[in-house]
Amino acid sequence: MLTSPPPGGLGLPPRRPDCSCPEHADELTDLLLPVDEAGEPPVRLADLIEARKVGVSPAEPQEHWLEPHDESDAGPERLGPFHWGLRVGDEAHDCYSDEAPWSLDQALLDRPGVEQVEWMDREEFLVGAPTLCASGVLAAAARALADPRVRRLAA
Ligand SMILES: [Zn+2]
Repeated sequence: MLTSPPPGGLGLPPRRPDCSCPEHADELTDLLLPVDEAGEPPVRLADLIEARKVGVSPAEPQEHWLEPHDESDAGPERLGPFHWGLRVGDEAHDCYSDEAPWSLDQALLDRPGVEQVEWMDREEFLVGAPTLCASGVLAAAARALADPRVRRLAA
């Protein structure tokens, strides 16, 4: 039985084995991520994780909810909740292209368990995924990077 989080706050994100992730990053260590550059070898997910080029950490309390600066008042009052911060460093940037059919946040949002994605910065994302643990979010990010729709070139 889950206890409800305090108003305005979030409960702690789940940890293994209490999460419901479809898969975890340590099951994907041999996953190869194609690079969006003809003739370039793919990147191993395990190498990116080891070199700390991709990583997941709990979102800071001030990141749980975002207030969009929308002066037209047309958008939602706030975005969220976001449970995780996802870092996708420069090396992983070779795996996707800004000119691809899908942006990386779209591919991430397509993963099971991922409910919200906000692209904060070139390398920083906020992810709303109340049932995923950190390793599950990392696996989802890896699958998004492996998605052929985030590249111009067919894999
Ligand atoms: Zn998990």
